Amino acid sequence: VQRSLVLVKPDGVRRGLSGEILRRIEAKGYTLAAVELRTATPEILAEHYAEHEGKPFYGPLVEFMLSGPVLAVVIEGQRCIEGFRSLAGATDPTVAAPGTIRGDLGRDWGLAVQQNLVHGSDSEESAAREIGIWFNDLA
Ligand code: ATP
Repeated sequence: VQRSLVLVKPDGVRRGLSGEILRRIEAKGYTLAAVELRTATPEILAEHYAEHEGKPFYGPLVEFMLSGPVLAVVIEGQRCIEGFRSLAGATDPTVAAPGTIRGDLGRDWGLAVQQNLVHGSDSEESAAREIGIWFNDLA
């Protein structure tokens, strides 16, 4: 069965939406294999966001991800990688579809980084890689 790494980003934790986001994941039928409130580090984020290094939003993105704790979650379920990304909605919360986490709960504060509440792995390869980054013992 497939696994995916989900993060409730600092904006979601700060706004008290961790429970609502976990509720939606469980309501969809996915299992929570691991849940941990973590404070990211520059090292973890450099690995996690390696593909974005050098992009204009990379600095602000890392700064945002260090601005408060994140909820690191491993979810499990049939095709949960693609399924969670559809649950999350489009990257930009201002255009994410209603019914999605970002569409229903996301706000656009006009900041340098999309503060879009959640992250979800985008492939089996990134899921394995990201689970290893956030949960050494589950890799
Ligand atoms: P995630 O990987 O977090 O689930 P995503 O796959 O929809 O989101 P990516 O393209 O992987 O988005 O970008 C990672 C994160 O970087 C985004 O979720 C967002 O927070 C930020 N980001 C991406 N593109 C931009 C942009 N053009 N301007 C500002 N921030 C951005």
